[in-house]
Amino acid sequence: MTELRWGSATDIGMVRATNQDQFLVATPLFAVADGMGGHAAGEVASKVAVDALKAVFERGPGTPQGLADAAHAANRQVWEHAQTDPDLRGMGTTLVAIALVDGSPGEQLAIANVGDSRAYRLRGHSLEQVTTDHSLVQELIDEGQINEEEAAVHPQRHVLTRALGVDPDVAVDLILLTPMLGDRFLLCSDGLIREVGDDLVASVLRRLADPDDATAELVNLAKEHGGNDNITVVVVDVVADGEGTQTQTPAADTLELPDGPPDPIDVGTVAASGGAAGPGAPEPIVDAGPSTGPMAAPGQARSTRPRIFTLRLVAFVAAVVVLLAIAAAGVGWYARDSYFVGVKSNEVVIFKGRPGGVLWFQPTVAVSTGVALSHVEPAFQSDVKSGRQEGSLSAAQAFVHNVETTTTTTTTTTTTTTTTVPPSTTTTKTPATTTKPAATTTAPRKSTSTSTG
Ligand code: MG
Repeated sequence: MTELRWGSATDIGMVRATNQDQFLVATPLFAVADGMGGHAAGEVASKVAVDALKAVFERGPGTPQGLADAAHAANRQVWEHAQTDPDLRGMGTTLVAIALVDGSPGEQLAIANVGDSRAYRLRGHSLEQVTTDHSLVQELIDEGQINEEEAAVHPQRHVLTRALGVDPDVAVDLILLTPMLGDRFLLCSDGLIREVGDDLVASVLRRLADPDDATAELVNLAKEHGGNDNITVVVVDVVADGEGTQTQTPAADTLELPDGPPDPIDVGTVAASGGAAGPGAPEPIVDAGPSTGPMAAPGQARSTRPRIFTLRLVAFVAAVVVLLAIAAAGVGWYARDSYFVGVKSNEVVIFKGRPGGVLWFQPTVAVSTGVALSHVEPAFQSDVKSGRQEGSLSAAQAFVHNVETTTTTTTTTTTTTTTTVPPSTTTTKTPATTTKPAATTTAPRKSTSTSTG
């Protein structure tokens, strides 16, 4: 069962003396009408139209054809009204309406349109105009004579080629769409779209989940941009899809529609051929089915779900950042919590860090010993060249102290003493300890004495 949620707003704008727009919120039917005509005729036309639309639709079968019939009836009633009162002669109105209807197959959203009020659909991040304007500038655009920018400033941009109430009969565009959870529909009079660009409209619709907030913001923006006309906005959200389940809002990149708006179905053709599904009727627009995502409780307001999603996302990102910071700190501690004895410019140097560095942590010189590499015991030179790791600075200093060779020439005749510390054999010699600098004070420094006596 498809569920809808909606918001609406209308405003006289900054220039006009009266508000000739009307909107209708009578779920599952929603509409916007923009009246035109002298004196109060425009207000009458739009009011008569939406009242007739509602009355006829609610008496009808709730089908696409029922919506089309209601639009035809609205046209007839506005026209008849104009015939009975000379002050109202020539009045007319636009009408754009959307209704949840029994379609084939299943529930569908039917959109009826006459004039230059518009219906848009926001699906994912993509906003598209669903209706086609019945205006002179739209015809010029279609013929390639002007572009959208030129149409926006064209002196005859207000001239309509179709409107309700001008003739006893009118052709009504009917568009059928399969509702999908997360779809957001916008109905609006031209007072919005002449002031606010589609990109800004789309950003508001994406940003403000509450439909009342979105409609209020759009009206405010139109006024801030000039408000040269009445502004009316209705937003309708699909908060549960036709499968009776609420699914996660599909990602925009999975829901790209074919280029261009759906082809409208001319109701005159539909009626003559016995219905929207009859021979000769264009195929209704059928969109991809709903995605399957995490389920929410039936009836849960759509507006709360993006907020929950956002909080979860923030928490997840924060957790990832903390873990990365801890990991970086751990790597830094590992990389820097060590010393090694190495060589720099042929001098034995004690570095803080690890040989070769760890990631972006490179070793730094802690102590320059002043000992040339050539003065290191040959057995330890390769060890020093490759970086002899020690647990502390003092241990590294002890190592250097122990492996440095010193040649002393004496003139005494005393017994030559060769002491290797530690251990006593040069082939297995290692510093006394890698952790206890006491070796530097207790172990005799190795010396090689040559007797000359
Ligand atoms: Mg208008």
